[in-house]
Order: sequence, then structure tokens, then C-alpha cells
Amino acid sequence: MTDRYASFVQSAAGRALVKRLGLPDPPRLRRHHPGDPLLPGPALLGAATGGRLAEPISKILTNAGIELADPAANTAAAGTPQRYGALLFDATGISDSTDLRQLYDFFHPQARSVLPSGRVIVLGTPPQECASPREAIAQRALEGLVRSIGKEFGRGTTAQLVYVTRAESGVLTSLESTLRFLLSGRSAYVSGQVIRVGAGAASAPADWDRPLEGQVVLVTGAARGIGAALAKVLARDGAQVVALDIPAAGDALAAVANDIGGTAVQLDLTAPDAPTRLADHLAGRHGRVDVVVHNAGITRDKTLGRMDADRWDQVIDVNLSSQERINDVLLERELIPTGGRIVSVSSIAGIAGNRGQTNYATSKAGVIGLVDSLAPALHGRGISVNAVAPGFIETRLTARIPLVVREAGRRMNSLAQGGLPVDVAETIGWLAWPASGAVSGNVIRVCGQSLLGA
Ligand code: NAD
Repeated sequence: MTDRYASFVQSAAGRALVKRLGLPDPPRLRRHHPGDPLLPGPALLGAATGGRLAEPISKILTNAGIELADPAANTAAAGTPQRYGALLFDATGISDSTDLRQLYDFFHPQARSVLPSGRVIVLGTPPQECASPREAIAQRALEGLVRSIGKEFGRGTTAQLVYVTRAESGVLTSLESTLRFLLSGRSAYVSGQVIRVGAGAASAPADWDRPLEGQVVLVTGAARGIGAALAKVLARDGAQVVALDIPAAGDALAAVANDIGGTAVQLDLTAPDAPTRLADHLAGRHGRVDVVVHNAGITRDKTLGRMDADRWDQVIDVNLSSQERINDVLLERELIPTGGRIVSVSSIAGIAGNRGQTNYATSKAGVIGLVDSLAPALHGRGISVNAVAPGFIETRLTARIPLVVREAGRRMNSLAQGGLPVDVAETIGWLAWPASGAVSGNVIRVCGQSLLGA
């Protein structure tokens, strides 16, 4: 599960060879540790004329302890160029394609001024909320800039576009939670994403280092891999974790639960009585479940012509149908309260498709459908529904892939490396925070801006 090449290029001999041969150069990514500052350096905030977000963003950044740089300080006359932890640009004032020039004017002089593992964040208005077709076109254009910066800046820098609704409710709290996630090392392996912050109830935590304090969180498939990392990250952030896995994984599951002071539930999600048994457990033990993370998943790979019906059925059942059945029962019994969260794990295979994975890709595209249909349906109940779509993550699952395919999977992304289970866990954590209630209906790829399905 270790990326030996990435370790090698960090050594002196490795650095020399990479330079001489022009080999891929995976940077060491900045990851989150509680108590870390959000950024490795000051932030530079720019805005298009008439932007509506520069002021709230500047407040959010200042409250978060981020130093705001003076834009005038980086001119040629100022001597040593300033280096930034992040460049943020409020593009909400852009109402016509000719206004796009303001993006060039802001980013061009700063293209080399971002620190390693720095952040680029552009904020816009959702095109469907724009007052005119011209404004909608210009706002849509922002995607191209952001995705290209993600590919150009290098050294672990990530770039995202955040569309922020004009509606008032919940927006500023969820904008803050989103910026805190994106600026921090929590988002190390998330790049080239378009994130929508809409209207919805959201409440800020007393302590942003414990954003899930007091929340009851169910994690399925928690015995190992991404699920085990999830249990750890969510518990670190203050959650009471209910860790679920199949009885055969009981020992590993108990170890995970003990490690974090959580509880373990041994249950096969595909058993006919699984939804009621789970609902009974949650009702009896906690009286509710604030966050449901559908992480359990399996692969049974074969090309379609060689695939027996069992492989098809098992994958659809574990990865998709069981999620639907569990949601139905938990919602029907009102165990997910107002302010609740449902977060599902999809995959980039569900976006791009994958040879040998028709069953898996179908199930994972279905998970995206689940987000599309449930998010608006549950908006009125104050429950958000989102998914993450991991790319190549270093787990036992990907360790089994043949070397050449594995190396391709690892390197074919803007960060030239695979992600870690913790990267998926941190992203799910952010979607689960009470402060992120206005982030719903999103599918966030945790793929280092993979070329697949881009
Ligand atoms: P993993 O195989 O290491 O862990 C999956 C866990 O789910 C296991 O502990 C397993 O016992 C459990 N599980 C399987 N069937 C179950 C059932 N019927 N009832 C209860 N638990 C069950 O896999 P992982 O790599 O940690 O993947 C976690 C999720 O992330 C999956 O949904 C997977 O499809 C998705 N994903 C992983 C990657 C990757 O690169 N590893 C990429 C994209 C998506």
C-alpha cells in the first residue's frame, strides 16, 4: 500500500533522477493535524468589480486567523516577491465574458507566487441563478480557468470553484465550513472541483477543531480501508461513531471501535432484516443518527460478457440497493433528525465507467442518482445528501491491481500520486459537519484531479 516511487523522489538521489529524466514528480502533500494553522502562509484575496462575497470572505479568513496580504506588496517595485498560502478571487461581479479579463489580471502576476500545497479558490454565482444569459455564460466559464490552474500550478497546489447561492439562509456558515475545508490540509487530494453552496440550515461549531462534537455518526464498512480511516477522523472531530461491518470482519471492527471509543455493529447490510435491526440498534442506543455514511462497497470485476449474474447482483445490492433500503427505514422512522446528513461513497468509475466494472460503475453511478433525487426531496426536512467519488486511493483494494495499471492509476492525475484513505475521510467529514448544511446535492471527487472522466 506504499507508493515507493513517491518516497524515492523525496530523496536526494531521487530528486536528481527525476530532474534529469523529466519523470513524474509527486509532491509531498500538506495534510491536516489538529491545531495546525489553516494555511502555510498569507492569503491574497481579489475581487471583480461589484463582487458580493469579498467582504464576508475577508471576515471569515480573518476570524480563522489567516493573514490577508496586501495586493500592492507583490509588484516589481516591492523587491522580494511575496509567497502566498492561497489565492482567492471573488468572481461574483463578473457579468459578461469581457469581464473575464479581471481573472487574468489577478492570477497572471501571481502564477508563481503560491507556496507548495497552496490553494486557489474562485467564488462565483451558480449559472442557473444568473440574471441574464451573458452573466450565466461568464460564470460557467470560471470552470475552465479553475480546472486548468489545477493542472498548471503544480507542487501540490489545488484549485476549486465554489458557486455560492444568492439566497441568505445558512450560506455564510457553510461558506465558512467549505473555505476552512478547502484551505486546510483536509482537502489535500481534492482538486479541480466545482462545489455548490446553496441555501439550508447550518450551525457553526463552538470549536472548529471539533466540528462534529456530539454528533452520532454511522459508518458502514468500517473494519478497514477508507471506512476505518473515516471512523478515526470523525471520532477525532468529536463524533460518537457507530462502526458497522460484516460479522466475518468482527475482530478488525472491534479493534477500530475500541481505538476510538465508538461502538461496533456486526451486520451484513444485504440481509433482509438489516435495515430494521440497524434502526432498532440506533433507536435503542442513541435515539437518533445524525450522520449516515454509506461507505461499504465491493467489487466483483469481469467484463460484461464473462460476468455471471451473481457478480452483478452482489455488487448492485451492497453498493446501491442496501443504501436505499437503509435510508428508507431510517427516514420513515424519523431517526435522522433535522440537520441530519447522508453521505455516500461513489467512485470515479461511476462517472467515467471502467473496463471490467460494468456492475460496479452502474452501482456507483446509481449512488450519484441517489444524491440527485434525495437531496431536493430531503431539503425541507433539513437533511443534506452528498457523495464523494474517490479516484485512486492507496488501500488493499488498489494494492491488488497489476503493477503497470496501478502505476498508471497513481500518476494520471494533477498531483501525480494516489490519495490516502484519510483524504476521503476528511472530505466526508466536512460534508457531515453541522456547519455544512447548505452544501447538499454535491458529488465531490477525491481524485487529485484524475484524468478519468474529467
Ligand atoms: P475495502 O474492501 O477495504 O473495505 C470495504 C469494507 O466494506 C470492508 O470492511 C467490508 O467487509 C465491508 N463490507 C462489504 N460488504 C458489506 C456488507 N454486505 N455489509 C457490511 N459491510 C460490508 O474497500 P475500500 O477501498 O476501503 O472502499 C470503501 C468504499 O470506497 C467502497 O464503497 C469503494 O467502492 C469506494 N472506493 C474505493 C476506492 C479505492 O481506490 N480504494 C476508489 C473508489 C471508491
